[in-house]
Amino acid sequence: KNKKVMVFGWARSGKAAAKRLLELGAYVTVVNGGDFDTQDATYRELLAADVDLVNTDQPDILDNTYDYLIKNPGINYEHALVRKATKLNIPILTEVEVALSSFEGRLIVVTGSNGKTTTTSLIRDMLSADGQKVTTAGNIGIPVSEVVAELTKEDTLLLELSSFQLLGLPDIQPDIALITNIFTNHLDYHKTRENYVAAKFRVTRNQTPNQYLVLNADGEDTEAFKLQTNARVVEFSRTKKGFSVEFIDDTLMVAENRVMLTKDIQLVGPHNQENILAAVTVAKLANVSIEAVQEVLKTFSGVEHRLQYLFTVNDVKYFNDSKATDIEATQTALNSFDSPTIWIGGGLDRGDNLNRLLPNLKNVKAVIAIGETQQKVVALARDAEKPVIAVTDVTQAAPIATQLASPGDVVLLSPAHASWDQYSSFEERGNQYVQALREVLKLRKD
Ligand code: ADP
Repeated sequence: KNKKVMVFGWARSGKAAAKRLLELGAYVTVVNGGDFDTQDATYRELLAADVDLVNTDQPDILDNTYDYLIKNPGINYEHALVRKATKLNIPILTEVEVALSSFEGRLIVVTGSNGKTTTTSLIRDMLSADGQKVTTAGNIGIPVSEVVAELTKEDTLLLELSSFQLLGLPDIQPDIALITNIFTNHLDYHKTRENYVAAKFRVTRNQTPNQYLVLNADGEDTEAFKLQTNARVVEFSRTKKGFSVEFIDDTLMVAENRVMLTKDIQLVGPHNQENILAAVTVAKLANVSIEAVQEVLKTFSGVEHRLQYLFTVNDVKYFNDSKATDIEATQTALNSFDSPTIWIGGGLDRGDNLNRLLPNLKNVKAVIAIGETQQKVVALARDAEKPVIAVTDVTQAAPIATQLASPGDVVLLSPAHASWDQYSSFEERGNQYVQALREVLKLRKD
């Protein structure tokens, strides 16, 4: 209230932050390197409320009369305007920090390199099935400021946060924090692994002994985190035994009670078993009933475009993994099936060597090559001595896949490449694939 605040960056989070700051009674200036869309409803609303909207990202715009700089998480700390704020000792916050400052309910935060969205979605569904009031926001696509004004002490706020966002959250203090895993794949931004791990540590830095930190016992950094945190640590593991939530043989166990058999769980793949362990561990700490856990695991078929189970027709299971835009993601997907698989792959050519996929083609019975890298995929299939058909895109691939598949098979779109050779996004690619399958299989939309 009454603080002078500069919001830097005009994406959805910048707009949400500016609106929330106005509600809180701050004096707001928005600066943006690119053009403002003057027809935009929020732009007009802010203009009408006397917010300064300035079309620049030059450092001169900032002086020591400002109390805070609110930075879009995508903007680097090396940006000249951000460096000027550091020089002037102006605290640099992000949209999430502003939003959280007024939230009084239970806060659950999910971070990690992989599996954030899947785990967050599972936790959300489990809390909801249990009858708890839960709202998700953050990296999952909804700025926290857009939801927080409506929340009370009785609510749970479930945030998916990237390490970029955590860097801008010096005061965050979750009641339950989950780090799914740490892989060092974001090093171009954080420069070193150490910085990356330190960014993740922020999620627990302010926690107290009556709060929880949930960690993957198979992670390299787990021991270091355990030594440094003040929170109560609860671990899960896909490979080690003796944890409160675990798979024993083919059964999911919670505190030594049998919960359900893996064959009744819809999500596939070892990585998703890890996501399930993480989500159920958090759900139990949030007092979710076993019945609610069972209900969700029976029906949750994956987040859209992420190794998402679609339907079974003539005993063929269809999956959409259009989000697999790199080789690692497709390796993960191919490793998730023991059944004969018709694999559809290919897309934007970034010059990757596809040979790394050779060991993962063991269960593949036929390959359908699409996109700009079509001929590379054909060469890979030939090396693996698999039958291969080259077509243009997912719309052509779908009917061929249905013809090649026999009962017991899996049909999998997992491109291993970005979609921008033919589509505006991986979502568009996935949607066109699903639509083409529905047409050829004569399935209704619902
Ligand atoms: P994020 O939100 O962290 O990007 P998602 O849940 O959206 O993660 O999953 C994206 C992709 O990451 C999946 O399709 C899969 O290839 C991979 N993945 C998901 N969970 C894991 C995990 N626990 N370990 C390794 N890879 C994973």
